[in-house]
Amino acid sequence: MNLFDLERAKAFIRDGDDFLLVTHVQPDGDAVSSLLAAGLLLESLGKRHTPVIGDRVPGRLRFLAGSGSIRTATPGETPERLHDRVIALDCADFSRIGPAAAWCAPGARLLNIDHHPTNDGFGDVTLIRPDASATAEILYELVGAMGVPWSRELAECIYTGILTDTGGFRYQNTTPAAHRIASEMLERGADGSRIAERLLERLSHSHVLLLKRALATLSFDAGNRISWLTVTRADMEETEAKAEDLEGLVNYSRNIEGVEVGILFKEVDEGKVKVSLRSAGTVDVAAFAKSFGGGGHVRAAGVTLHMPLPEAVRTIVGALRGLMA
Ligand code: 5GP
Ligand code: MN
Repeated sequence: MNLFDLERAKAFIRDGDDFLLVTHVQPDGDAVSSLLAAGLLLESLGKRHTPVIGDRVPGRLRFLAGSGSIRTATPGETPERLHDRVIALDCADFSRIGPAAAWCAPGARLLNIDHHPTNDGFGDVTLIRPDASATAEILYELVGAMGVPWSRELAECIYTGILTDTGGFRYQNTTPAAHRIASEMLERGADGSRIAERLLERLSHSHVLLLKRALATLSFDAGNRISWLTVTRADMEETEAKAEDLEGLVNYSRNIEGVEVGILFKEVDEGKVKVSLRSAGTVDVAAFAKSFGGGGHVRAAGVTLHMPLPEAVRTIVGALRGLMA
């Protein structure tokens, strides 16, 4: 099966006139940007679309044009209608769509556009390229392949997806193509400094309060090669933090000299812990996360464990210690 089937992807879009656009829960910059870019592409082609996410759009991404029209799917709700043509963006597997899955009609046809190496190839047509810096980079290609005219809004979406998924052009996925496309997006009107100020510089009050608490939990194992932080529900409540305030916290453990794997344990609920894993390069955290039912990229992966926080820490740190021995 051709994982990057541009011809079939184009046909999938050409042959439909009404699409549901979905991305993963806890959406990041690439997820929201790719969703909006796909919407702009469909609009240019005169097609209807409904963008929906199983979470609210993080406040810092609401400067993106069109983000106000993204619908929020909530668990257990009855969607106003079911869609039979779906485009999933930046989702490594179907379950990442979360409650938005309820908006898909049974037997809906699905186009899967993604860059995660752990993508399981779900859907009827796939446009998956693990060497793409961001899903937004694949959208860039699709825009070109379908002859869609560029606008400043579209350029800002593509630029934002690449900027955020490369960590501001710092991670390993910062390829020559990422820079070339970003450069072209600046030429097409993207305001690079405004986007960077909003997404890389500005810190919310609650984020900094949460960071202060998280750093107080900083711990080490395996001769300081494993480092982690924990965040409890009480931390979230008392700092009035939102999910988006967690972004970047895990890097404080990963960035420490000598640390090979940095981890953030986030207590989602009593007995439910979201684990974020970041590797300095020697450990494949995607494979590690996959062995617990999660996934992601070689250097950035995640998994949700159904157990209390202390047990999640023991389980993950113990398994990693064994792996790294
Ligand atoms: P984060 O730690 O920022 O939530 O996620 C890091 C990377 O791992 C992202 O690329 C994300 O898509 C992936 N990831 C995080 N949690 C999960 C999960 O539960 N399942 C899968 N398949 N991927 C995940
Ligand atoms: Mn991405």
